[in-house]
Amino acid sequence: MRLTDLNSGREIGANCMLAEFGGVRLVVDCGLHPKLDGRKALPRLDKIQGGVDGIILTHCHLDHLGSLPLLVRQHPGARVYASAATTLFVRRLLSNSIQVMKRQREETGNADYPLYVEQDVERVEHALAAVPLANPRVIGRGGEEVALTFHLAGHAAGAVGVLVEHRKRKHFFTGDVHFQAQRTVAGAAFPRTPVDTLVMECTRGATPTLPHVTRKKEEDRLINAINRVADRGGDVLLPAFAFGRMQEILLLLQDAADAGELVDVPIYCSGLGMDLCDYLDAASKKTKQVKFSRQVLRDLGVQPLSRRYVQPGKNLPAQGIYLLSSGMLVEKTPAWRIAANILDDEENAVFFVGYCDPETPGGELIGMAPGGEFKFKSLDHVSTLRAEVERFHLSGHADRDELVDFARDLAPKDIVLTHGDPPARAWMKETLAKLMPATRVHDPEPGVPLEL
Ligand SMILES: [Zn+2]
Ligand SMILES: [Zn+2]
Repeated sequence: MRLTDLNSGREIGANCMLAEFGGVRLVVDCGLHPKLDGRKALPRLDKIQGGVDGIILTHCHLDHLGSLPLLVRQHPGARVYASAATTLFVRRLLSNSIQVMKRQREETGNADYPLYVEQDVERVEHALAAVPLANPRVIGRGGEEVALTFHLAGHAAGAVGVLVEHRKRKHFFTGDVHFQAQRTVAGAAFPRTPVDTLVMECTRGATPTLPHVTRKKEEDRLINAINRVADRGGDVLLPAFAFGRMQEILLLLQDAADAGELVDVPIYCSGLGMDLCDYLDAASKKTKQVKFSRQVLRDLGVQPLSRRYVQPGKNLPAQGIYLLSSGMLVEKTPAWRIAANILDDEENAVFFVGYCDPETPGGELIGMAPGGEFKFKSLDHVSTLRAEVERFHLSGHADRDELVDFARDLAPKDIVLTHGDPPARAWMKETLAKLMPATRVHDPEPGVPLEL
């Protein structure tokens, strides 16, 4: 296999890899960098010289999906292989991405936006091919063949890892992976048999595994914290990705409410997250890859967030739990906008429930001492941090030790690290090199092909 990382840097960024097997050329994911603007957020699609025989979409987070319309526009004959659940989400998420980009163009004047239009999204929709799980799909060109086999990856609804077999050699791509079960998805069901190459995410490589912290304990701690804040009259902001994470948290709140353990205050959600509840509900009915019922919205009495925002610095008119996107408090998202009504009051709280990049506003807030100044630049407002800010370890990514165990089970000749910031890659590389001396560990230079 000849593998080229098309991400623009050694970070999580815009996930995209070109994998060549003899004459057969595959692209794995085609994301958009969450922290860069305009065309700078794209992966290096210019490095793909010649045709593409197939595109694998591991899951629907924008750092894997967000640039796909441009790749499909460049390679109109290529099919996009994904799990059955994923094929149901693609169009809704990409259409939302167009709306966000149009707004960005109005607000920032960046003429790159929108990077694609609805017609491009339609083209992606037509190119989609649902691949059944654990069932090889053969792709060929000029007598050369590769077989793709999908396995559920936990992480988020529809997420898969992929085994690519070519001339008796096996290459496994984890995509984003979580081995433990969540409410909307089971834990990863990856084969643990030897492969030649393992391409592995390492999001949490710089996060030590805390043996005493379990998911159940963290869930209880979150519910208790929500109740405590509500009892003192405060509002709780839960920033969460609209796709997957928000539905996870809704089911957690539902379980607590059913057990009589959740305070009775209104719950507000942003529009996309509520809308995606319908899509996860449909995927749950049509495939066995997701577990979710939109009935949870009715049972919890979830209300849509009003689009008429309150003046920054003032408290919100209704006390409640605000479960809003984005998970990293990205500027101008509903969660970021509502944070301007939360941070100044010591009764309120912001509870983070997923991965937060240190360079995003969410990461900045997590690192901020009480009394610090949080700037809402485009609102012309500065908050003095008085609200409680806390992190709960409910990540959708595998612990680094689980990844190391998985790598050891697969005993590959080569490991290629991906989807991690430099400290995460460094820890993973050092640890794997020590524990697996017979394995070569690569932290690939973006844009430079690796012969494996
Ligand atoms: Zn993901
Ligand atoms: Zn990702």
